[in-house]
Amino acid sequence: MLEIKNLHASLEEEGKEILKGVNLTVEAGKVHAIMGPNGSGKSTLSYVLAGREGYEVTEGSATLLGEDVLDMDVEERAAAGMFLAFQYPVEIPGVGNMTFMRTAVNAQRKARGEEEMSSAEFLKVIREKAKEMQIDAEMLKRPVNVGFSGGEKKRNEILQMAMLEPKLCIMDETDSGLDVDAMKLVAQGVNALRSPDRGFLVITHYQRLLDHIQPDVVHIMSDGRIVKTGGPELALEVEKNGYTDILKENA
Ligand code: ADP
Ligand code: MG
Ligand code: MG
Repeated sequence: MLEIKNLHASLEEEGKEILKGVNLTVEAGKVHAIMGPNGSGKSTLSYVLAGREGYEVTEGSATLLGEDVLDMDVEERAAAGMFLAFQYPVEIPGVGNMTFMRTAVNAQRKARGEEEMSSAEFLKVIREKAKEMQIDAEMLKRPVNVGFSGGEKKRNEILQMAMLEPKLCIMDETDSGLDVDAMKLVAQGVNALRSPDRGFLVITHYQRLLDHIQPDVVHIMSDGRIVKTGGPELALEVEKNGYTDILKENA
């Protein structure tokens, strides 16, 4: 599904290299977790994959279902089936959540050469999905993220993900602001959307999230590289002993 080979990326302005040769393959149907100490480049990897401005890829490749991701603009990445959680974290006063989501879904359909969803059709689908994901449809009537609690933003994000039906979900769960309830929501969302033709890359600083999402593969990132790959037990090892020993062994 996702194949990253020897990916190097630098900050455009300072020229500082952050990713120093990342190798990573995410198979369809699998949940891969990336853990690692603060500053190891986890978020940078997700930004580079999402096509965020300010980064320059200097070497290596990333393909999604065989297509060169790094060559695509942001809309093309979404059309190709990539979803980055937190890609729409902003509050948008005056824009209804429903309208916003329909715009995103139709932009994706258009880019794929599919017909746009009518308002009535969209309403039906989103209500069904909201129910499936146990999300209160009231939230759809409010302006995007305005006054949403942390938990509501998370629910909203999961609903977006469910609506866009991505092939690859990349979730960067930063260390800040994820309380236990929000973490459970994220985990429920991931678990509900797991499917044989969908891959997940879940980035997290703490092991706690992985108490609720059982990853198939765990990677440890350090100084811009994946330094160790293992099964779920690797996350438990980190929880117990921290990163120091793993990083020493793999230096
Ligand atoms: P992580 O998500 O693993 O905590 P990041 O990808 O956020 O790591 O950061 C990796 C490194 O890149 C850190 O040393 C960080 O200070 C640096 N970095 C990231 N973005 C910027 C930026 N815009 N300006 C300067 N340094 C940055
Ligand atoms: Mg960080
Ligand atoms: Mg980060």
